[in-house]
Amino acid sequence: MLKYPKRLQQLIHLFKKFPGVGNRTAERFAFQVFNWPLEDVLYFSDTLSELNQKVTFCPECSCLAEEDYCHFCHLPNRNTSQLCLIATVKDAYALEEMGIYQGLYHVLGSLLSPIEGKNVDCLPIEKIKQRVKNHSVKEIIIALDSTLEGEATALYIKEQLASNVHISRLAFGLPIGSCLDFVDGGTLARSFTGRHSF
Ligand SMILES: [Zn+2]
Repeated sequence: MLKYPKRLQQLIHLFKKFPGVGNRTAERFAFQVFNWPLEDVLYFSDTLSELNQKVTFCPECSCLAEEDYCHFCHLPNRNTSQLCLIATVKDAYALEEMGIYQGLYHVLGSLLSPIEGKNVDCLPIEKIKQRVKNHSVKEIIIALDSTLEGEATALYIKEQLASNVHISRLAFGLPIGSCLDFVDGGTLARSFTGRHSF
């Protein structure tokens, strides 16, 4: 069987790493890139290497930071009396799209999952306590997936922090077993405004 030139094969192999991309789609993408003008190819390659070198995690909230700068921690109009706990960096952008939250975020990085070896030591509880103190946070909003892992994590956080600060949680509208990433903006906004004490 005649094979594609080596570099084209390499590119196909890379595209196959994307979720939901099989051989045929990867081949289509690779040929698409091959047909781009040089200017676009260079821009694509620069963007990839700069993404790796210049986009990092904020040492304060673990959200994405560009050249050490995180929008959520450094913009002057953020309301520092509210701290929203999220599982992944991507969740912050889903919540920002609602346009109704102006507080701070804290990315947990993982949810409690004994099967995957994710125990309470994986949660940044001390760091969150420190931020509550430093910013005089009045409310912690738990915005986690409504899965078993999300539930367990929310309960543990409540146990650990309820004596320091008021805790609320997203409630109405989120389907059981759903991930925040897959919920439409309207449902997410309803869940957010309908959050209740927890
Ligand atoms: Zn930050």
